[in-house]
Amino acid sequence: MNAPSLPPLREVIARHNLAASKALGQNFLLDEQLLDRIAALPGSLAGQQVLEVGPGPGGLTRALLRAGARVTAIEMDRRCLPALAELGESFPGQLTVIEGDALKLDHADLMQGEPFHVLSNLPYNVGTALFVRWLGGESWPPPWLSLTLMFQREVAERIVASAGDDAYGRLAVLAQWRAQARLAMKVHRSAFTPPPKVMSAIVHVTPAAMPEGVSARMLERLTEAAFGQRRKMLRQSLKGVPGALEALGSLGIDETRRAETVSVAEFVALAKALS
Ligand code: SAM
Repeated sequence: MNAPSLPPLREVIARHNLAASKALGQNFLLDEQLLDRIAALPGSLAGQQVLEVGPGPGGLTRALLRAGARVTAIEMDRRCLPALAELGESFPGQLTVIEGDALKLDHADLMQGEPFHVLSNLPYNVGTALFVRWLGGESWPPPWLSLTLMFQREVAERIVASAGDDAYGRLAVLAQWRAQARLAMKVHRSAFTPPPKVMSAIVHVTPAAMPEGVSARMLERLTEAAFGQRRKMLRQSLKGVPGALEALGSLGIDETRRAETVSVAEFVALAKALS
C-alpha cells in the first residue's frame, strides 16, 4: 500500500496553533526521515499493536502508521487532538487516540490484553516514571513486547550502564535484570523544535527471562539501600536489610565493596538468597 501524502508537520503545527508548551515538556520532532528511522527500531511493525505515549502533533505517529502499525496514542494536551484526528483519517482504522494522562491509565487494559510495542518521546520526568512502572512489579513477562523510548542522554546512559561505570545505579539494575536494554540512537538537540538544553538518546528494551525465585520487591529494596549510600561499603549500606550481610558472606561477595561495583547478576543472586 502506498503511504498517503501528508502535509508537512510544520504546516500541521501552524494550522492547529500547536506552539510547544514548556509546561507539558513539548519538544517536537519534525524530520520525517529521522522519525521513520525511530519507528523502524523495534523491527517490522506491520500489523502490530503499538502504544504511543505523547504523540503531540503526530510526527512519530505518522511514521508508525506508515510502517503499518495499529496505534493507540495517549495525549494529555487536548490542543493536539484535532491534528491527530485528521491524521487518523488518512490511515483508516489504524489510529485510536485517547485523551488523558499516561501515568494514570492502565496500559494493558487499554490494549485489551493484546501484546504491544511501546514507542514514546516524553518529557524527562514522565518518561522515567513510566519506565520504572513498565519494568517494575512481580508479574513477568510484561504485556509489552518492546520499549523504544527517548530520554535525555544522561538518563539513557544510566539505563544501559554496567557495574563500574559512573552512570551505573538503580536504573541499570531495573532495566537489565530481566530485560535487555541498549542505546539504539543518539539524537542531537537540534533535531527538536524548540531544541531542549540537553542531548537525547533512544533506549530500546526487550523482555528477557526472569531469574527464578527472585522477588522484584526484594531486589528493589536491595538496590535502594545499596545505591542510597553508593560511596559506602556494602556492610554499611545493607545493614538495614535483614539477612543481607550473611547473604554477602555465603555468596562470597566482599562486604567492603561499594554498590557501584556489584554486577546485576550479583544483585540478583543476593535478592534470590533473601527472597
Ligand atoms: N511525539 C511528539 C514528537 O516526538 O514530536 C511529541 C513529543 S513531546 C516531547 C511530549 C508529548 O507528550 C507532548 O505532546 C505532551 O503534551 C505529551 N505528554 C506529556 N506528559 C504526558 C502524560 N503524562 N501523558 C500523556 N501525554 C503526555
